[in-house]
Amino acid sequence: MRVFNFSAGPAILPEEVLAQAGEEMLDWHGSGMSVMEMSHRAEPYLGIQHQAEADLRALLGIPSDYRVLFLQGGAWTQFAMVPMNLLRGRPGADYVHTGIWSEKAIEEAGRFGRVRLAASSESSGFHAVPPQSGWQMDPGAAYLHYTTNETIGGVQFHWIPQTGTVPLVADMSSDILSQPVDVSRFGLIYAGAQKNIGPAGLTLVIVREDLIGTPMPGTPTMLDYRTHAQHDSMFNTPPTWAIYMAGLVFARLLRDGGLPAVAERNRAKAELLYGYIDGSGFYRNPVEPGSRSLMNVPFTLTDPALDATFLQGAERNGLLQLKGHRLAGGMRASIYNAMPLAGVEALVNYMKEFVRQHG
Ligand SMILES: *Cc1c(COP(=O)(O)O)cnc(C)c1O
Repeated sequence: MRVFNFSAGPAILPEEVLAQAGEEMLDWHGSGMSVMEMSHRAEPYLGIQHQAEADLRALLGIPSDYRVLFLQGGAWTQFAMVPMNLLRGRPGADYVHTGIWSEKAIEEAGRFGRVRLAASSESSGFHAVPPQSGWQMDPGAAYLHYTTNETIGGVQFHWIPQTGTVPLVADMSSDILSQPVDVSRFGLIYAGAQKNIGPAGLTLVIVREDLIGTPMPGTPTMLDYRTHAQHDSMFNTPPTWAIYMAGLVFARLLRDGGLPAVAERNRAKAELLYGYIDGSGFYRNPVEPGSRSLMNVPFTLTDPALDATFLQGAERNGLLQLKGHRLAGGMRASIYNAMPLAGVEALVNYMKEFVRQHG
């Protein structure tokens, strides 16, 4: 029996995609082999990867002067690759500090150059994104980096920062493909696949061409965007099966109406959950309403002593992985693209029932 999996990542995938991958597991389209067993240098695998890129480009409307790179190493590797490739001889870059993931990016970038904080929401306890009117940007910064969705804190930008001629870099690991986005506003976008795209092991980078090609001296071959751009993400063996799975997800999203339709479904799910939490008098979400994440919804119970009972009951009802991040405590429901409305309805019904019994 399938459960409703609220994990923050690796996370729920569309059931139809898993079923299709299952059907194609032993014999992909009459090839007599699994995609996992195919050479990455020949058809039919080449076609699979090209189609995945074409579908991603269609979904996001990626302009032709942007490259799509299928990499490995997770978002964590991008915390280093971004400064190594994008500092381009400039002394430093601007970062926006909105929670735990942006903090990790900031710490790692500090190994390669001077990091300036253009803005921080520390004074508000990281419960809101800092309004751009208070930002102090360096016009000479190599780029400005921010995290579009803080997966742990449940804080999301619902607007794109204005940075003038300074390239905008975004960690979109936990909200990429959750809504339409104007890629042309960005210099570089990166995302680990395991939240809202596909299986772990694939990292997506979308980068404007002119930012590629000036890595800092000593940059390893594998950490130079140019290596992957010049070889269509096939310099060495790419994570073939993860790319195939991501491709199935992209195709499915296109068939289901593209990102405008995805955004509508995500909004409905989030409204249902936040609406219930706010009116419950028992559960609480600490994030300012204008900065709430549509993907990750942290919440607490009035009495933390009931946390374990809540989680046990949830599990009995097929609602899994609701325990909050170890650094945040409480609960967290991740409701990525693949979580159906029925999953959120089941969660809210369980939460109501729990209040009846323990409130
Ligand atoms: C999960 C996550 C990361 C870390 O991703 P890895 O792929 O595990 O390196 C970084 N940033 C954000 C916003 C995340 O949600």
